[in-house]
Amino acid sequence: MNVKDLKPKELWGYFAEMCAIPHPSHHEAEIRNYIVAFAKKHDLDVTVDEGLNVIVRKPAAAGMEDRATIVLQAHLDMVPQANGDKVNAAGKPFDFTRDAIEPRIDGDRVKATGTTLGADNGIGVAAMMSILASKEIKHGAIEALFTATEETGMEGAFGLKEGELQGRILVNLDSERQNELCVGCAGGTDANMEFPYKAEKAPAGYKAVAVEVKGLKGGHSGIEIIMQRANANKVLMRTLLPHLGEGVMLASVDGGGLRNAIPREARAEVVVKPEYYATFVVAVAKMEATLIDEFKGIEDSISLKVVEADAPAEVFPTEAALRLARLVCLVPDGVVKMSVAMPGLVQTSTNFARMVSDGKVVKMQSLTRSSARSEKEFVCERIVAACELAGAKIELTGSYDGWNPDMSSPILKTMAASYEALFGEKPEITAVHAGLECGIIGGVNPGMDMISCGPTIRFPHSPDEEVNIASVERFWKFLVHTLETAPKK
Ligand SMILES: [Zn+2]
Repeated sequence: MNVKDLKPKELWGYFAEMCAIPHPSHHEAEIRNYIVAFAKKHDLDVTVDEGLNVIVRKPAAAGMEDRATIVLQAHLDMVPQANGDKVNAAGKPFDFTRDAIEPRIDGDRVKATGTTLGADNGIGVAAMMSILASKEIKHGAIEALFTATEETGMEGAFGLKEGELQGRILVNLDSERQNELCVGCAGGTDANMEFPYKAEKAPAGYKAVAVEVKGLKGGHSGIEIIMQRANANKVLMRTLLPHLGEGVMLASVDGGGLRNAIPREARAEVVVKPEYYATFVVAVAKMEATLIDEFKGIEDSISLKVVEADAPAEVFPTEAALRLARLVCLVPDGVVKMSVAMPGLVQTSTNFARMVSDGKVVKMQSLTRSSARSEKEFVCERIVAACELAGAKIELTGSYDGWNPDMSSPILKTMAASYEALFGEKPEITAVHAGLECGIIGGVNPGMDMISCGPTIRFPHSPDEEVNIASVERFWKFLVHTLETAPKK
């Protein structure tokens, strides 16, 4: 059997067509044209906006004119990931900008051969097309929003202008578990800090070593911040702070990596007064034991060591090193507040992700997340305050809105009831402490009642991506039933 013959037939048919059209992020013109041509063929109103999103409008079905307009939303792009040995039909390395995805049925799932499948978010797109093409489904007015370039920074959602959408209920189709309804996400703001210092000549006769933090688990700074893992940058500066000015001078720091990753490793080069060296080594070993105890059950292979290092030419003046270490110890990090509406969900957090010195300046970066804008802003104000106390410059950039769970949302009530009526059980209501398009769309459309659902997709963004076939049929029935029972205007 072919993928296009699976049920629901229309949905899988559109999905199979999409697989033949290359559409990795930033190469979306062809898939955009495909949607535009589809809309025109079905006599539907279609526009492409400045953000390169496609909006297709379909009037209410007969007898459904009293229903509220529903915005259905899915993103057009896919993540291009192929196995190293994947070749195209001509035997050349697979090229996502030219070659067709090869979907195939594998037991109860659909996968691609050697590449990402694009079920994220192709199934959502295909479901929207099936609804737009249908003459049977009973639905109110539909605005179908096909967003551009979600996977590399949600560019389409950021490009959406106030007033483009008339609907005030939005159903996003980009979730990855069929039995879940997602009702919230976090927004974010980057803090970019610069701590200037005038390096001085390293003192003669001191012993040069490095202090290294290793073995931490790290992880995604949104999803995994709830684990309360150790932050390597914080561990390092906490270790050094009591010794700066006591016989230890800081030469350089380098910790963490990506702004959205909890730092796993950090390293400082220092020089130590010979008579203080034994004290310092004992203190670092003691700190390692303290950390192992403090993070028992969270981190199981913390390593904090003094290791040999080349002698540095220059060091931080002690006064500057102290200010820097105090700043790093003071700057907020980790979970700030848990959600009351949804127990177990982090509402606000911040990750002190990166610090690196270059002899003139220490560059540092934090990423703060929250589903509540005011809380995010206050955490940023605290980071600014710490920087001002320490004489560091700071710039806040890349701010985007979150989506705070509203447990009394009308579309949540409709969909939870619809799910129970169809499947005889309650859906799980969830939210994520990471960015979703809904947060950004809600930011330019205040008061938008939003929800997110989807089929069950495993291993998205990898060549193992697979979508469960039965979940697609359930997702489809659920979506149709939701439209049929949608709230009135
Ligand atoms: Zn997606």
